[in-house]
Amino acid sequence: MGVPVSQMWTVSRYVITQRLLGRKRYPLVLMLEPLFRCNLACAGCGKIQQPVDVLRKELTPEQCFAAVDECGAPIVSIPGGEPLLHSRIDEIVKGLIERKKYIYLCTNGLLLDKHLHKFKPSPFLSFSVHIDGVGDVHDQAVCRKGVYETAIQGIKAALKAGFRVTTNSTFFRNADPAHVQEMFDELTELGVEGMMVSPGYEYEKAPDQNNFLPREQTISLFQQVFSKAGKAWRFNQSPLFLEFLKGRWELECTPWGNPTYNLFGWQKPCYLVDEGHVSSFQELMDLTEWSKYGRASGNPKCTNCMVHSGYEATAVQQTFTTWKGFWKTAKLTLMGTKSTSAPFPKPVASTKISGQPASFPHAQSDLVPLQVPENITESS
Ligand code: SF4
Repeated sequence: MGVPVSQMWTVSRYVITQRLLGRKRYPLVLMLEPLFRCNLACAGCGKIQQPVDVLRKELTPEQCFAAVDECGAPIVSIPGGEPLLHSRIDEIVKGLIERKKYIYLCTNGLLLDKHLHKFKPSPFLSFSVHIDGVGDVHDQAVCRKGVYETAIQGIKAALKAGFRVTTNSTFFRNADPAHVQEMFDELTELGVEGMMVSPGYEYEKAPDQNNFLPREQTISLFQQVFSKAGKAWRFNQSPLFLEFLKGRWELECTPWGNPTYNLFGWQKPCYLVDEGHVSSFQELMDLTEWSKYGRASGNPKCTNCMVHSGYEATAVQQTFTTWKGFWKTAKLTLMGTKSTSAPFPKPVASTKISGQPASFPHAQSDLVPLQVPENITESS
């Protein structure tokens, strides 16, 4: 598993303590969005469709620290927007390291090499670089040519400088299992610490509404990808979550596991669905009608969701608080993802998943331009 022992120990101690304290709901990863501004406009992204005055705004480091202290989660993920565009991102990271939080700074990698000097390598800091495929496949997914090469240069520079580097990949209907395998091989060869994978969420605001994966197709995709699991592949995720993606382990969402704080406050109910904001973490926990969310609730917004921000916390909780989850995780960790001899669940007939770049709305020659005015995309 691509997670350092010190981090695993911190998380396991935290989860067990919450249980001993009798807390039914507790956060594991704070999703801290310090800005919505981005230097890309990906077709599957539902985060950056904000008015320009909002895109110009940033959370201050003090606001970030207050949210982190209030929430108490041991891990802080910083997505966005593009966090490296934040004018004081180095101060935010420094303050979180001082608080001994494990940070995943999510970046598209375009500015990574250029901004590396602002940070110091730390066991608490990992750059999580967004990579959805190799070469043109990634460029098509992010709707701009040349991004893959720049992101890979950023990864190499960060690794060379001694930083922890992970990757995060989001898959859509047009994902080709063979290509995903090739990407995992390539990222492993580069020396990244671990990879994170997830199907895309069907954001209502995303420009491309035709390529989200229904649940059955998500399962089929990951079954095909992991049918030839590379021995050296390392994932920065719970083995139970990966089993869930393959349809071999049942998980229910715990939306409070990854609470979201951004320019508007604490987002109800989760990172993916925006049904308003409240001003304190306690209000989020107390005032959200949690029974209205998750697949079992029948909420159509949750029907196809298998995104890590909803389910990883459940997987981690099962690992450290149930014998069944602990045993399964230990087995998968020691013996690899193919440790079970049981065949995959019945293949889904409707699942013809193949590389179909032509079906992607943006052909290489038709890459979408930036939606954010040029003068507010670069902060330094
Ligand atoms: S299932 Fe997904 S969309 Fe629904 S509440 Fe959970 S994380 Fe949010």
